[in-house]
Amino acid sequence: WAGLDFEGKAKRFYILLQGGDCLEKRELQSLVDKMSLKEKIGQLTQFTPQYLGREDGELTGIMGDFAVDQVYLDSLGSVLNATDRNEVIAMQREHLKKDRLKIPLVFMRDIIHGYRTTFPIPLGLGATFAPQLVEEVSHVAGTESAREGIQVTFSPMADLCRDARWGRVMEGTGEDPVLNAQMAAAMVRGYQGAPGELVKDPTRIAACVKHYAGYGAVLAGRDYNNVDFSRLSLYQDYLPAFQAAIEAGAKLIMPAFTLFEGLPATASEYLLKKVLREYLKFDGVAISDWGSVGKLLTMHIADSQERASELALNAGLDMDMMAGAFVRGLSDAVAAKKVAVEDVDRAVLRMLNLKNDLGLFENPYRFIDAHETLPPAPSSESRRYARVAAEKSVVLLKNKNVLPISVKSHIAVTGPLAASQRILGAWSSYGKHDDAVSLYAGLKKQFENVSLIPDPISSDPADYANFDVIIVGLGEREDDSGESACKTRIELPEDQVALIRRLQHTGKPIIGVIFAGRPLALTNVVPYLDGLLYAWFPGTEGGNALANLISGKAVPEGHLPMTFPRTTGQVPIYYNEPRNGSPADDQHPTKFTSRYVDCQNSPLYPFGYGLSYGHIEYGKLQVNQPVLTDDQPIQITVAVTNDSDYRSSTLVQCYVGSTITSVVRPVSELKSWVKVVLEPNQTDQVTLTISVDDLAYVHSNLERFADKGDFIVRIGENAEEYQELTLTYQ
Ligand code: BGC
Repeated sequence: WAGLDFEGKAKRFYILLQGGDCLEKRELQSLVDKMSLKEKIGQLTQFTPQYLGREDGELTGIMGDFAVDQVYLDSLGSVLNATDRNEVIAMQREHLKKDRLKIPLVFMRDIIHGYRTTFPIPLGLGATFAPQLVEEVSHVAGTESAREGIQVTFSPMADLCRDARWGRVMEGTGEDPVLNAQMAAAMVRGYQGAPGELVKDPTRIAACVKHYAGYGAVLAGRDYNNVDFSRLSLYQDYLPAFQAAIEAGAKLIMPAFTLFEGLPATASEYLLKKVLREYLKFDGVAISDWGSVGKLLTMHIADSQERASELALNAGLDMDMMAGAFVRGLSDAVAAKKVAVEDVDRAVLRMLNLKNDLGLFENPYRFIDAHETLPPAPSSESRRYARVAAEKSVVLLKNKNVLPISVKSHIAVTGPLAASQRILGAWSSYGKHDDAVSLYAGLKKQFENVSLIPDPISSDPADYANFDVIIVGLGEREDDSGESACKTRIELPEDQVALIRRLQHTGKPIIGVIFAGRPLALTNVVPYLDGLLYAWFPGTEGGNALANLISGKAVPEGHLPMTFPRTTGQVPIYYNEPRNGSPADDQHPTKFTSRYVDCQNSPLYPFGYGLSYGHIEYGKLQVNQPVLTDDQPIQITVAVTNDSDYRSSTLVQCYVGSTITSVVRPVSELKSWVKVVLEPNQTDQVTLTISVDDLAYVHSNLERFADKGDFIVRIGENAEEYQELTLTYQ
């Protein structure tokens, strides 16, 4: 390594070839021992370049009326949101000149669904039900970020999402703990690689799983609002995806803005010590969310920066992101003996470990030069990933024999999002809209006769007389979802509903393509559409992916990772809610059934729903043995046959429910799935394995185990259409 001259080269604490675990730890510890308290506190602090006054070329450290002591700035631990490699190099160089102990900075940023190349939003990635693909896509995102000097991403967001009003559902992978767990783990592997790879592989970055825990439970779907859920639900619903990310090796975790049992997660010893360190065995860095330590004051949990620092550090938090609370209050808390130096040291050691795991002591510029020769992104290779991911994320919700359409068809393309490149979605500020392929641009490349009707409002039904089919680009604006972008109405905007109704008068088949960062309530438009593709925000290659699907070059494979309601009023609606004692179906309600007087209980589209072009017939379920034992898993086989003329895909989903349980449980829960793509007339045998772990659930004592007795396995195409078998665990 000889690219950049850097001043800290003399300090090599991580000597990959010689270093054993012990040696490494000892050296990091001896570094901690050399640090003054202020240097330690600097190490536990993260600021953005702007906050440090870099815009004026100086690290002023002025925070409102408070001037941060220079020692803190010189020994700063981490920088958030540096713009690019030049800024990273400049800041690191300046820092290493000033920091007495030459401990390199670590640079962090939110790489949520791609960097220069934008992939589908995470909710769309959830709809692929393809963790391997998601792992690969995350690796591409990590590679593009690493070359710009980003060393840590605040991803995956492992929050369970049940309320489509909440804008951040776009950042998660939906309402199912098992799907979320698989996706969160896949993202971590994609960013970090296998254990040990992070330090040597210039394409890897460290992952910070967030927002721990239960941020998605915000009441009324309003961001930063309160949450209220039980310990049972914490363990059963909210923790599994965090656990999976931790088991996959996630190096950092971010506590949520929200409360748990009356305490902000940032100051919850129960969450940060008992559950995180003891139960989940996490030993990485816990970094606060933006300004969260300061929020302890606005939440009236603390009356001073000293008290806020004390609460957060003693609860188990290591890093203060952007609050500047530690630099204002932690040394006073230590002086007052409210915080033990050993606890500060433990947090510092975790930070140094992270830097060590990233190889920063060896190379503070972490492989930036290794990327010098890579092609600029998006490259043809990254675009290929983006296109495949987008194709597999799109969900076909309706098809009245209209799709796919021949490349010779005369197509009218219209609607507010028809030619828009603003289809990257929130958290994509590093991707350029100019790089994005719009629906119209994608269709234009593949179909022979495509015309854009740019102003649908003033168009007349007669304008469509010469076309065979109308494709309408509908949906939300990109900034209608994401952080602090919540809604009280998730129906399509009125003007879009009116447009569809008007287009109906043309008598032509209408295909809707919807771009959105959340499930929308589509009852008003579905009856008027002949075909409906739900595209989420598909990213840079959205238009090409959609054109491939519309022409039949690719077949729809996406399935809903969240339940789609009929109307906003049904929200939160999710398939895996505990039984409520009412007859489950809408067909035979009584006055005392849990229901509405103006709407059915059932959703418009259930979790797991998604069509393909042809038809796949499921045979009868075959079971190798009716009795499950601890060492003998059950295997269930089902034949799936494509009895149509199109290549077609199905997602064979396996749900499990118990008959009698010690606490009230969901009717059934997804445990596994197999995706199959079949040519016409092709048959495949799909085998799903059920083991005791699939029956386990969290009991009142918070222990997770399975009950002996009967259980029900449901296998089918979504959470509502299945065949079922009753089996026994003995
Ligand atoms: C968000 C986090 C994000 C952080 C840093 C916060 O406002 O809640 O998800 O990682 O900012 O950008």
